[in-house]
Amino acid sequence: MLVIGGGIAGTSLLWHLARRRIDAVLVERHHIAWGASGRNAGFLLAGVASSYAEAVQTYGREKAREVWEITGENHDRMVEAARGQEVGHRRLGSAILPANDDERALLIESEQLLQEDGFNATWDGERLINRRDGEIDPAAMVAALARQSERGAIREGVDVSAITPRRHGVTVTAGEDMCEAGVVILATNAYTPQLVPSVKIQPTRAQMLATAPEPKRITDMPVYSNFGYRYWRQLASGEVLIGGWRDTSLETEKTSEDEPTAEIQEHLDRAIEEFRVNAEVTHRWAGIMGFTESGLPMAGPLEGMPNVYICAGFTGHGMGFAFMTAKQVAESI
Ligand SMILES: Cc1cc2nc3c(=O)[nH]c(=O)nc-3n(C[C@H](O)[C@H](O)[C@H](O)COP(=O)(O)OP(=O)(O)OC[C@H]3O[C@@H](n4cnc5c(N)ncnc54)[C@H](O)[C@@H]3O)c2cc1C
Repeated sequence: MLVIGGGIAGTSLLWHLARRRIDAVLVERHHIAWGASGRNAGFLLAGVASSYAEAVQTYGREKAREVWEITGENHDRMVEAARGQEVGHRRLGSAILPANDDERALLIESEQLLQEDGFNATWDGERLINRRDGEIDPAAMVAALARQSERGAIREGVDVSAITPRRHGVTVTAGEDMCEAGVVILATNAYTPQLVPSVKIQPTRAQMLATAPEPKRITDMPVYSNFGYRYWRQLASGEVLIGGWRDTSLETEKTSEDEPTAEIQEHLDRAIEEFRVNAEVTHRWAGIMGFTESGLPMAGPLEGMPNVYICAGFTGHGMGFAFMTAKQVAESI
């Protein structure tokens, strides 16, 4: 079995397949955690980017509840799978801060719906607090899973250029090289359409910056705001991480170009000033997310391509979804 892609999805797949004693090799075109999994904000949130009230409207009550349950379980199971390795995990909770009256009303409604459905969420008059949420160092988490793989099971620097399904397997081409795999699983997220153009995943850029350690605490827990378009947190060592503002330039951010832009970075700089952070900005970066039309991941056999499976399309919440999605795909195989 061949897994393509070495992010949180690919390394989770390798982990779950190994637990089921299924022989698998993972190939990655750059290095482990090179993609969004090594560049994200590290929020471990229950649910999707939209509020629970909006998710209930979009997916229906049952489905919304299932999504919140699976992502809650993802948090617990993924951290357990690190088996005590240091992955920067803290369960501080998360706060969703409304940017306007509409969002405020949705969050107040969400509190009630979440409580009715058995989730621990409270509106404190300003923010919706979810006590079970947390944060993680995403690259460390990917490394913690990768480290548990069999020797030789991960091959970095292998850029798959084509996959051709056959009756009893799949021919995989990487430049001049070829191999046969019984089954291929695409864990290529935003990059999936480069291999299979019919897959509807929209590459979408997200940008961030980080500061040097700031002595002042600017937040007690990871904060999400403006329908998920703004987010910030502060590490235990003081560094402030802030990202988002994609909504100010939605069209230019529909891209696979992973360079930060002056336009979005200026918004992040302004936000840092508003927080009165004096520490200097030390890092600026961008990563590429994979958006699906439904806002939910794609998991399972790929239509029209025998022996090819997909585990991708995490729409901005891969750290919250991928470990359990990978489990589901491994089980279906
Ligand atoms: C700035 C930013 C902030 C974010 N914040 C959060 C957050 O706080 N919480 C959260 O849950 N999510 C967040 N996300 C989203 C999250 O990072 C992604 O959903 C998640 O990392 C996707 O994981 P993945 O393994 O599917 O994809 P990736 O990590 O992108 O991995 C895909 C890998 O496939 C490899 N690949 C692609 N094509 C090929 C090929 N042909 N051959 C070989 N290898 C190939 C790539 O090199 C890449 O390493 C954020 C994303 C960004 C960019």
